[in-house]
Amino acid sequence: MSEDNAKQEKPIRRVMAGMRSTGRLHIGHYFGALKNWVDLQNQYQCFFGAMDWHAMTTSYKSSKELRELAYDNVAEWLAWGLDPEKSTVFIQSQVPEHIELFMYFAMITPLGWLERVPTWKDAEEEAKASDTHNLGRLSYPVLQAADIAVYRGEGVPVGQDQVAHLELSREIIRRMNHLYKVKLPEPKPLLTEIPLLSGTDGRKMSNSYNNVFYLLQEEKELKKSVNKMVTDPQRVRREDTGNPDVCPVFKFHKLFSTEEDRKWVREGCTTAGIGCGDCKGRLYDNLNQFMGSAREKKKELLKDRERLDSILAKGCQKAREEASQTLKRVKDKTGF
Ligand code: SF4
Repeated sequence: MSEDNAKQEKPIRRVMAGMRSTGRLHIGHYFGALKNWVDLQNQYQCFFGAMDWHAMTTSYKSSKELRELAYDNVAEWLAWGLDPEKSTVFIQSQVPEHIELFMYFAMITPLGWLERVPTWKDAEEEAKASDTHNLGRLSYPVLQAADIAVYRGEGVPVGQDQVAHLELSREIIRRMNHLYKVKLPEPKPLLTEIPLLSGTDGRKMSNSYNNVFYLLQEEKELKKSVNKMVTDPQRVRREDTGNPDVCPVFKFHKLFSTEEDRKWVREGCTTAGIGCGDCKGRLYDNLNQFMGSAREKKKELLKDRERLDSILAKGCQKAREEASQTLKRVKDKTGF
C-alpha cells in the first residue's frame, strides 16, 4: 500500500458536528442529526457544538436571544441522550479559538471559492431582501472549516446533500496544509441517512412555509399541531375512502408509529373504516409517547440551571484545551 493510500485508510477517531442555534429544534434536527449523534458518541471521540456565531449571520438583529437559544438547544440534545461524559458539548462563541483559526483560513481562501458556493449564489437575492447580504454570510464556509479543523476533526456526519459543503472545508484545510505544512486532518463525510421529511402540509419542511413540526411540544401544543395537519385532499367527507400514500399524516405514522398502527391506518383509511380524526388521534398518542421522557428531562435541565451551566462550562473548557493545541500548531507553522 502506498503512503498516500495508507493515510487515506486511517480510521476516523474524532468527529465534529454542530447545529446553528437559530430557534427551537424540529423533527428535521432529530432525524437529520441528533439521532445519529447519540449513536456516534458510542463509536468516536465527539465534539458537538451549538453554533451561535453561525446563527448570527442571519439573526444579528436579535443577537441577544441567541445565548438562550443555544442553552435551550443543548438542554434538548442532552434530553435526547447526548452524554456530556462521552462527548464534548460546547457553545461556539465560548471557544474563541474558532474565530482565531477562521482568521488564518480567511487569509488563504480565494474569494472566488466562496462566491461560487451555490447556497450563496442562490440565496443572494433573499439575503439582500432580508438585510443579511453580509461578509459573515459569504464567509460562512470558512468559519465552518475552522469549526472542524480547530478540533482536528476527522469525520463529519452529513447528509448526501451536504457533501459538497464539506468538500469546500476540505479544500480550505488542504490549502492550509499545503502552504504551511500544518498537517490538519482533511475531514471525511460520515454519511447519514436522512428520511424524506415533510412538513405539516405535506410540502418540504421549512420555516418559510410555516409548516415545521417542533420536536418537544407540550401536550396541548402537540394536539394542535397534529390537528392542523393536512390530509388526503380527496377525502372530503368521513364516508369517503382515502389514500394514505398521499397523506402527510401517514408520512408521520411511518416515522413514529408501529407496524401494527400503520396497518390499522391503511386498512381504515382505504375502506373509510376510520375517520381522519381517529387517525390523527393515534398519531398524537404515538408522538406524545415519543416526546414524553425527553420533554420531562429537558424541563428538569432548564429548571436546574446550575447543572446545565456546569455541564457547559466543563464542555467549553475541554473544547478550548483541544482547540488551543491546534492554534499553537498553526501559529508555530505560520510564524506567529
Ligand atoms: S385517515 Fe389518516 S391517512 Fe387517511 S386521509 Fe385521513 S389522516 Fe390521512
